[in-house]
Amino acid sequence: MTSPIDLLRRQVSDLHQELVRYNLVVWTAGNVSARVPGEDLLVIKPSGVPYDELTPENMILCDLDGKVVEGEHSPSSDTAAHAYVYRHLPEVGGVVHTHSTYACAWAARGEAVPCVLTAMADEFGAEIPVGPFALIGDDSIGRGIVETLQGHRSPAVLMKNHGVFTLGKDATAAVKAAVMCEDVARTVHISRQLGEPVPIAQGDVDRLNHRYQTVYGQQPAAR
Ligand SMILES: [Zn+2]
Repeated sequence: MTSPIDLLRRQVSDLHQELVRYNLVVWTAGNVSARVPGEDLLVIKPSGVPYDELTPENMILCDLDGKVVEGEHSPSSDTAAHAYVYRHLPEVGGVVHTHSTYACAWAARGEAVPCVLTAMADEFGAEIPVGPFALIGDDSIGRGIVETLQGHRSPAVLMKNHGVFTLGKDATAAVKAAVMCEDVARTVHISRQLGEPVPIAQGDVDRLNHRYQTVYGQQPAAR
């Protein structure tokens, strides 16, 4: 029998390879975590271990204060931020952090990515907002993520002068948001080189987002 925690270890380990595949990370930067459903626990990447060496076995199991419950390495240095999100947003089951290039270019200027593409209205339902400048070491990053995204449609925040944090109902959804965030940050950046991108009217953003979030894709009954 494979335990739910073992399945999550594999899922989180595998999802780190998606960060590599989509060019969202360099060296050992970036991390994925997942909440253990029904328990005050999370699974996260070990700190400083190269992506090629990540395995289900070396993922770290922590409590929601970021203390290690099981694991040989120390957890990602961003564990406190992930744990803060899980403590304050019970609907969140996955968190991703990257320093992906184009999103960071917006974060470095402290500028939100405006909602100027239908794909953005679908996925983000709004601009991708900027969170506060925050230093690692206490709850400031986690608090900045929660304060910016609570009540916001966007599952992604650009932490000022730093990088991207994305949230999802599970770790896969959070990775998807990280991939989409970099994609739209890149396209809108390129658009900006040639002029001012044209905003989409709020009513149309609302309609697109509603349709995408409720109608688009395979419905469970059709699977
Ligand atoms: Zn970072």
